[in-house]
Amino acid sequence: MTPIPVANPGAAYRARKAEIDAAVRRALDSGWYIMGPEVDAFEREFAAFVGSARCVSVGNGTDAIELILRGLGIGPGDAVVTVAHTAVATVTAIDLVGARPLLVDVDPVDFTMDPGHLERTLAAWSGPPVRAIIPVHLYGRPADMDAILGIAARHGIPVIEDCAQAHGATFGGRNVGTLGVAASFSFYPTKNLGALGDGGASVTSDPDLDARMRLLKQYGWKQRYISDIPGLNTRLDEVQAAILRAKLPHLTGDNARRRAIAAALRGNGRVEHPRDAEGHVYHQYVVRSAERDALAAHLHAHGVGTAILYPVPVHLQPGYADRVSLGPGGLPATERAAREILSLPVWPELEAGQVETIAQALRGF
Ligand SMILES: *Cc1c(COP(=O)(O)O)cnc(C)c1O
Repeated sequence: MTPIPVANPGAAYRARKAEIDAAVRRALDSGWYIMGPEVDAFEREFAAFVGSARCVSVGNGTDAIELILRGLGIGPGDAVVTVAHTAVATVTAIDLVGARPLLVDVDPVDFTMDPGHLERTLAAWSGPPVRAIIPVHLYGRPADMDAILGIAARHGIPVIEDCAQAHGATFGGRNVGTLGVAASFSFYPTKNLGALGDGGASVTSDPDLDARMRLLKQYGWKQRYISDIPGLNTRLDEVQAAILRAKLPHLTGDNARRRAIAAALRGNGRVEHPRDAEGHVYHQYVVRSAERDALAAHLHAHGVGTAILYPVPVHLQPGYADRVSLGPGGLPATERAAREILSLPVWPELEAGQVETIAQALRGF
């Protein structure tokens, strides 16, 4: 028996096949494939969805973070705070602009940035100036933004939200992506809003930052063929924009379905379940167990696919270990999470019978 996959972007396509196929055909027939009407419309529609004034579409979620950092003038000689328990992409973007990543621990229960450790880290830091703080709304759960924004304000440091896993999530009734100076999104196919290829977006309500990001995203061009400033090239294409426009109207319903599946899974089996939060959109449903590997084997034997997001904290990964001054034991809650977490399937197209299979397999552990 093939196990229920832990993610299923193909099912997301099939669920909206007619609308997506029509959108792709429209984009192909238009004869305009880069920075045309689909991209313009998607930027407006996504900004409206997030509740932000502006949206700059880009090639992927890593570029979205890099563009914001560059737009804020952050680079060599600066430090940027984020967490080590995240997609490595968050740290990749900081490294790409030449800034130094300063990594803080996560809350041991919710896995998002620990405000207490953030405060202590800033107080003890004597390296290059900290120019931004990037909380990650990991697994679709908003980080503790009241505490983080308060600390950031006291230190005069801007906050950039990494919303790659949290399209449509809310914190205290407010949309994530509107809480800091800017926010990044990824449209990688398995995200809550996924393209059928790569895509990303940076949103902000600061018109000056928006204007700088628009220049930077395409060679620093204000006018075609003339670079005002040195830039990069990161563009969402028309076909992906058309696909995202077809999928965006379904995002709120899909997130509600993720929450319903999470409610059905919660409480089953002798594992620690994620704490619910009102605005949690369950990009991942992550349980924890001291016997994680046995749990994964048991679930697999009962037809349930799983994944570990993420198995190695960024400060312990070979590619980045020399970029941060932290060794093993440096971030205890992060390192414990990496040993104990397990993602279960929670994608919106799961059928009721499949959800019951997952719940039953949990109970049998
Ligand atoms: C997916 C992801 C990214 C990067 O997105 P890409 O589109 O793959 O570049 C960044 N941060 C987090 C938390 C992610 O989950």
